[in-house]
Amino acid sequence: MIAYTPMIQQYLGIKEGAKDAILFFRLGDFYEMFFDDAINASRELEITLTGREGGGDKKIPMCGVPYHSAEGYIARLIEKGFKVAICEQVEDPSAAKGVVRREIIRVVTPGTVMESKSLADKANNFIVAVAEHGGAFGVAACDLTTGELYVTSFSAAQEALTDEVNVYHPSEIVGDAGAMEQLRSAAAVWNRPVLFTERTPMDPERLAQQFSQLTLDSLAPARHRAVSLLTGYLDETQKRSLGHVRRISVYEPNQYMILDPFTRRNLELVETVRDRNKKGSLLWLLDRTRTSMGARLLRRWIDKPLLSKAAIDERLEAVDRLYGNFILRDELRRELNEIYDLERLVGRVAYGSANGRDLNALKSSLQHVPAIAALCAESDSETLRKLVKDVDHCADLAEMIETVIVEEPPVSVREGGLIRAGYDRYLDELREASVNGKKWLAELERREREATGIKSLKIGYNKVFGYYLEVSKANIGSLPEGRYERKQTLTNAERYVTPELKEKETLILEAEDKMVDLEYAKFVELRDHLSAHLHRLQKLAEVLAALDVFQSLATVSGEQRYVKPKVTEGYDFVVQEGRHPVVEAVMDASFIANDTSLANGADKASMLLITGPNMAGKSTYMRQVALVSIMAQIGSFVPAKFAEVPLIDRIFTRIGAADDLIGGQSTFMVEMKDIQIMTEKATAQSLVIIDELGRGTSTGEGMAIAQAVIEFVHHEVGCKALVSTHFHELAHLGDTLPRLANACMAVQETGDNVTFLRKLVPGAAGSSYGIYCAQLAGLPGSIIERAYSLLELHTDHENLAAAAAVKLPYAAEAAAAYAAPTEEAAKIPAAVQPPRIVEPVHVPEPAAAT
Ligand code: ADP
Repeated sequence: MIAYTPMIQQYLGIKEGAKDAILFFRLGDFYEMFFDDAINASRELEITLTGREGGGDKKIPMCGVPYHSAEGYIARLIEKGFKVAICEQVEDPSAAKGVVRREIIRVVTPGTVMESKSLADKANNFIVAVAEHGGAFGVAACDLTTGELYVTSFSAAQEALTDEVNVYHPSEIVGDAGAMEQLRSAAAVWNRPVLFTERTPMDPERLAQQFSQLTLDSLAPARHRAVSLLTGYLDETQKRSLGHVRRISVYEPNQYMILDPFTRRNLELVETVRDRNKKGSLLWLLDRTRTSMGARLLRRWIDKPLLSKAAIDERLEAVDRLYGNFILRDELRRELNEIYDLERLVGRVAYGSANGRDLNALKSSLQHVPAIAALCAESDSETLRKLVKDVDHCADLAEMIETVIVEEPPVSVREGGLIRAGYDRYLDELREASVNGKKWLAELERREREATGIKSLKIGYNKVFGYYLEVSKANIGSLPEGRYERKQTLTNAERYVTPELKEKETLILEAEDKMVDLEYAKFVELRDHLSAHLHRLQKLAEVLAALDVFQSLATVSGEQRYVKPKVTEGYDFVVQEGRHPVVEAVMDASFIANDTSLANGADKASMLLITGPNMAGKSTYMRQVALVSIMAQIGSFVPAKFAEVPLIDRIFTRIGAADDLIGGQSTFMVEMKDIQIMTEKATAQSLVIIDELGRGTSTGEGMAIAQAVIEFVHHEVGCKALVSTHFHELAHLGDTLPRLANACMAVQETGDNVTFLRKLVPGAAGSSYGIYCAQLAGLPGSIIERAYSLLELHTDHENLAAAAAVKLPYAAEAAAAYAAPTEEAAKIPAAVQPPRIVEPVHVPEPAAAT
């Protein structure tokens, strides 16, 4: 046994309670770390590792960070996936006998961090609890900074769990070991650090202090367990009451469109695949919100497209009215600009970390509420009117802050200067005493100068010696004997005190101390008062956030010339001149619009088999269909001339291969697994999108599997589907499957040149121009020539059944069909109607193609 010093013994005792965290141990103006924590932290934070005598033979490894700059260091550790336990001195060192008492006051974790340095304004930071109970998974997701808490459950299936948890982009997951195990492998695909902590449910009595018993009793067991696991963890780490986490928003998973993580990523809903940036995503395009709350809500809407026509129509109505009323939109935007992040301000009030400036931000935001409410109340939108009808403006709270807090309070709440004069009589008296004291000092200075004849004599103050009289060395001789007691010697001056000065000093300093304490007490009183009204502020914040999203969607729709979709409970998906919203927005050249018709009935097709060369625009087109459907279901206008959009319950995509190789699985295996899930889960109301079905294995096998999958979707699922394939030979399926139509991306060949027209036309492509692409990419001429001659041999040999394939050039044919619609052409589904505008799009130069 090493005989550690009492302080190190205390440290070790406290560390017992925070084994999985790095312990920040407060010592004076520093947080110190010891032992392994010091070794890890010094490495991660790149700070010097030193040692400290602790009673043993060897020094104890130690490193530290200054108290005042700790937030930045904590943020860095959290970002790297560590937890940090903050241990403070909890008694006055001057009053302590022996070692000062210390306690962990909070454990900061990635999912519970409250400090703005670690948080993005425009995204929620969710911690998720997963529970397993009676054959069901329960999921509870909480953003501690805003107090939102969402809860749901569903029958236990791994992909349902990963789909649901992924919606929240959690930074931390707690809960039952079994459920978490199911998530671990999936978390690898999320490609961001997620911290897992196993926990058990909390004491029911404690839980009932946080939520009403009525609410708790109404929760299904798996949901109850998830809430309990989550709340227990929050309680254990935060060690304080969380007055803003009182409301549980319960939902059923089938209230929202289901999108698996892969589909979300591939459609680039909230971030791009390549660099995981918001820029270039659908969210980036649609985000014209003016407040952080609005930005976060928009993101949640995009993450959860609705499945209720009534709810979608309500949103669309608001967007439509704002779209049509530019003046209203503009005024609303201007007012919203003045609104601070109410949700997080409320969080800080509840958490006890709000300062004077936060309260003033709250106040000034509230002062803009009446104007916003009036704009909505007078608008011609029923949704907007309903939204603000009974909304509580919380004017009394704004007024109260106004009476208590000065116009420009300091950052610190413990150094005074934040309570208005006239608010509290005693405080005013103390202030008066302090002011009078200062006046007295000035008078004393005058008197002493007169008495000594030293003009440069002055009164000063420092923390160590208090008030003093300062006399330059040259003048010391003029001082009378006796009354002056020397306190401090400087190079050019001496500092003295007199009994008179000492006496007055006590009075002045006491008044100031009392003043600061009283100001703090008054501030906390106000903060506590506000804490009792958090639910009112939270409701108001919700309304403002929704308004902000409406105006954002209307603004983008106006700028990008989108149309209001007609959302139906039927089957048919009909879009005229649809565009890919993001590709269109970032493109210099003009985007070529394409029609889509996936419908039920005679002469109609619900499945499209798209062939065509690489780079022709197939995957852009397929993504565009999915995005139109998602945009409509979040309540946005869509990039098209006309759109009739049915409610889609689920979108499956297999597009792109960028990140298939996670977890050491082959592309083909991943594709097959996804297709297996699709076959199991897809309903007639789903949308299936598969790019290059059947790649990754031999041609014969790939083609066979592709055909079998297409037939299955056609016969068994009956959903809308877009399938692209390299195998133009599969076009013959169009003859035997009545609900399937062939389409291809038009290409024009002139001499040695191929021009992609980006236009979807009926029929199948005859060749996929793979070798042409290789040529564009700059492969040596000899390889290209050899490839062409091999292709010829191969084609002869297999004598492929390309009878159904349309011969090139499509563009000419398509144009002809357009110029003189024959009876045949009139029967072609709208999806594959010939082009209206044929704007040649040139193949990029080889350098640009790489
Ligand atoms: P494919 O899937 O057939 O290989 P992509 O859909 O990836 O082709 O499209 C290749 C490029 O063509 C895209 O990066 C995009 O810039 C451009 N493109 C695609 N569709 C269109 C369109 N409708 N109008 C204009 N450009 C388009």
